[in-house]
Parts: sequence; structure tokens; C-alpha cells
Amino acid sequence: MENKFEINPINRWKFYKGRPLTIAGPCSAESEEQMFKTARELVSLNRVDIFRAGIWKPRTRPGAFEGVGREGLVWLRDIKRELGLPVATEVANSSHVNDALKFGVDVLWIGARTSANPFAMQEIADALAGVETTVLVKNPVNPDPELWIGALERINKAGIKNIGAIHRGFSAYEKTLYRNQPKWQIPIEMKTNFPELPLICDPSHIGGAREFIYEISQRSMDLNFDGLMIETHCDPSCALSDKNQQLTPEALGAILSKLVLRTPTSDNTSFVEILADLRSQIDIYDDQILDILEQRMKVAEAIGRVKKENNITILQTNRWEEIIKGALKKGLAKGLSEEFIDLLFKAVHQESINHQNSVMNEP
Ligand code: PEP
Ligand code: MN
Repeated sequence: MENKFEINPINRWKFYKGRPLTIAGPCSAESEEQMFKTARELVSLNRVDIFRAGIWKPRTRPGAFEGVGREGLVWLRDIKRELGLPVATEVANSSHVNDALKFGVDVLWIGARTSANPFAMQEIADALAGVETTVLVKNPVNPDPELWIGALERINKAGIKNIGAIHRGFSAYEKTLYRNQPKWQIPIEMKTNFPELPLICDPSHIGGAREFIYEISQRSMDLNFDGLMIETHCDPSCALSDKNQQLTPEALGAILSKLVLRTPTSDNTSFVEILADLRSQIDIYDDQILDILEQRMKVAEAIGRVKKENNITILQTNRWEEIIKGALKKGLAKGLSEEFIDLLFKAVHQESINHQNSVMNEP
């Protein structure tokens, strides 16, 4: 399918003052006092571009705090008026869109549970037709790049050119260190396929805990993301949702000051030469990896031929367990991560099986 968006580059957005575009504010709007206190403290940092707060909260289980609803839109409108800060909220259906636009919300974001649902996305896109606003689409909860792209396409096709993607990680059944798995290869793929599409990292929902916000933010900056959305609350310990991951505005300020911002290019010629040299070394190793894989697959095909002659099954789990155990031990000693070795060997193994399979089914 044709993959193209019609996008206004982020540096032409009226809120954009430089990298990272910073969106901060509470997970949920809770009271006028909490909203204004948080917003005032954020304004005093002098580096927050957009104030966020969830008005309608998509909660996993019923009975949890589901947001204050329309009342919160009044607070957002007043914060925008009185503090001059553009405001953002989450929308999940057409009535949210209409209400948010009525109250002058500057940026609408679509949550991870909504971007996973094409019906909801189309309803939102239809409500946005002909409107000039800014829309940020979070990745769907499941790691499906096409679903994410499709959600963005629906919004873009409605005529919204100020669009961006928010990476908030992917949910997993297994217990992991972070609340959601970052699967960085997915946003990297987005950036490669759509270099103009603004990409914003949400370290709060990836990490799920305050102590991870800095490392995830820095990682996203190193990957040349354009912005950050970070949950911030004047008193996180009392927050009605996501209390473990919210930062005080002061803590946010400390993190933003600590971030190291690197640029993708440089005019420094000695740096350019060193980088070119290192990259040519990488290219050589990549060629070698491909050569070795080719040879390995030839051996797999030879195995396929002898198995065929002797009527033996392709998959032999004992042998596979031995391979992966050995690879893990050797790979760890070489400084490779367990996750990587596992992924790499599963992929290599699958490709070998495919090669054996085609040999065994040759006429
Ligand atoms: C949020 O930003 O508060 C939120 C609900 O996020 P997500 O859709 O990423 O879970
Ligand atoms: Mn939240």
C-alpha cells in the first residue's frame, strides 16, 4: 500500500520552540486546584510547550477513577487563557472531539486503546473533517505497526496535517521491568518509513515508574525523537491515576536539564571522517553476517536433504534446545543481551526450518 502522509513539519507547528517539544501535565485532571498548581509550576520551568491532562480516562477495570469529564475542559480552557499555555487532552470518540474543540483544546491525542480500534479511529477522523487542529496518535497497545499507521492515515485523510505519533510502549502478558515494552525497533521503523512524521516519546507509560523516566527519555532523544510527553502532578503521591509514574514539576525540570541532546549531523569534518570510517566497518560486518547466514542456510538445506532421504521430521526440539542454551551461554559472555540472542536465534532457526522445508518438499 502507498505509504505517504501529508504533514506539516513539526518546526512549523505554532507550539514548537525546539527539540524536544515538551508536553507535560497530570495523567488525569482531578480538581481546579490540582490543575492550576501543576500548570503554574510547569510554566515556571520555562521549558514546557503544551499542558496535558486526561479528562476522560480509559481504565482497564471498571470502578477506577474515570476522569472528571467536561468540567475538566473548563479548567483546561482557563489555564490556556490565564497562563498562555497551549493545552492537550485525550479523545476517544466523536463527542469527546466536539467537546474538546468547543473548549479550545489545542492538541488532541488518541490513546493506545483507541488507536487499536479502526471503528473508533474512523469515527474520530470523521468528527475532525474540515477542522484545523493538531492530533497525536499513540501506538496501539499491541505491537502492530500497520495498525498505528492506519490510525494516523485515517486522521490525515480527514485533512489534519499537524499530526504526530506518540510511542508509549506495548503491553505484554509477561511481567517486565517496564510497564510496557518499548520495542524500539517499531518507532525506529516509523522514523525510517516516514521521516517527516513527528515522533514523541511517552516515557511515563513505557516505564510505569518515576525512576525510569530519565533513561527512557534520554534513549528517545538519542534516537532523534522530536518530543516528550511526561506525566507531571503537583503531588504525585495523591494522584488518582498512574501515581507511580508521575513526576513533580520540579523533578521534571531536573530531568529536562540533564538530557543530552545530540544532533543527527555535524559540520565538524574530523567527526564526519571518524563516523564514515566506523560506518564502513559496520558495513563490512553486515556483509559478513549475510555471507555467514547464506552458508548456514546451505548447511540447513543439506540437512533437509539427508532427513528427506531418511524420512526424519524437520523439527527436533532437543537439538533446538541445545542450540539455544549454548548460544545463550556464549552470547552472554560476549556481552550480548539475553533478549537479543533469543530473538536472533529464533529468527535464524525459523529461516533454517523454512529452507529445510522447501528442500524436503521439492518434487
Ligand atoms: C494517558 O496518556 O494518560 C493514557 C491513558 O495513555 P495510554 O493511552 O498510552 O495508555
Ligand atoms: Mn496515565
